[in-house]
Amino acid sequence: MDLSEIIYYTVTAVALAIWVYRDALTSQRNQWLWGTGVLLNSTFFFPLYFWTRPPEFYWRCPQCDRTNRAWTRQCPRCEAVVPAIDMESRLYGFWTEADAVSIFLLTQATTLFVAFMVGVELAPNGEGIQDASKLWLVQMITVNVMLALSFYCITVRYRRAVQDIGLRTENWLRWMPLGLLAGLALVFIQNGITTIFAWAGSLFHFDLSGQLEREMATQQLGWPTSFHDPLLLVVLFVAGILVPLGEEILVRGIAYRAARARFGPGTGMIIISLVFAFLHQSPAFFPGLFVIGLALNYLYERTNSLLPSIFAHASINITAILVKVSVQ
Ligand SMILES: [Zn+2]
Repeated sequence: MDLSEIIYYTVTAVALAIWVYRDALTSQRNQWLWGTGVLLNSTFFFPLYFWTRPPEFYWRCPQCDRTNRAWTRQCPRCEAVVPAIDMESRLYGFWTEADAVSIFLLTQATTLFVAFMVGVELAPNGEGIQDASKLWLVQMITVNVMLALSFYCITVRYRRAVQDIGLRTENWLRWMPLGLLAGLALVFIQNGITTIFAWAGSLFHFDLSGQLEREMATQQLGWPTSFHDPLLLVVLFVAGILVPLGEEILVRGIAYRAARARFGPGTGMIIISLVFAFLHQSPAFFPGLFVIGLALNYLYERTNSLLPSIFAHASINITAILVKVSVQ
């Protein structure tokens, strides 16, 4: 563990512990017990805290469209009554940022657990490298767990349809080329921004380009060695298709929608993009990732569909894979 990782884990654990402490105060659970638990092991206690609490349910009045709380079957506005037998199928809830964080933490824990099980070292520092196919097996299992938890959250826990988050196939013929082109443009923009910041950093004696090179070298490991390497197909499938799908559902569909409900679209976008960039734990890439996050959120907000940002994300990842393989 280097210093930046220690800072990252400390900041995260303290922030999550304060969050749970304050929430427990208002929901009358033991704030000291939960706060300490989250501080010591946030991966386990944070999801446990939020997912052991039953969500609040609402229903929409069939007559006047008002959103009502679950404890009454009579609409307070138009006084229409929903029969008890229909009630169950009408109820739905709203997820919050806590659900997105829970899914993220559990996904991270899955990565560590699966990596341990198949005997892969996750932070390779260059020597004696390991089986690249095992690394990608870990990735594939992890992203499937992330997808499963996201679908559980949306459809089971909050009883909503995936169409509600914009996961619809309509207009896909328009969104596919738009998304793929936007992704290509973003690759160039991100490269430009990263280069400019590395240069600006050097003016103030921050060695961002050295750090950039070290990160590129680490990331170079575990990739297919040529275009004939059969591993390339696995990598394209996992990093080019599954990861964009899973990350867009979690980051845009779950996290951004929760942030937008609380802070509005503008502030919501900025918060989610900052968090998205922070999670990559890479100061050198931070500004570029922040701009990518903003652009993907903007695509989602403008089109009200998850397809454009999924295609854009896929296009960014596939470009990165092809560039990596061609310079090997
Ligand atoms: Zn009504």
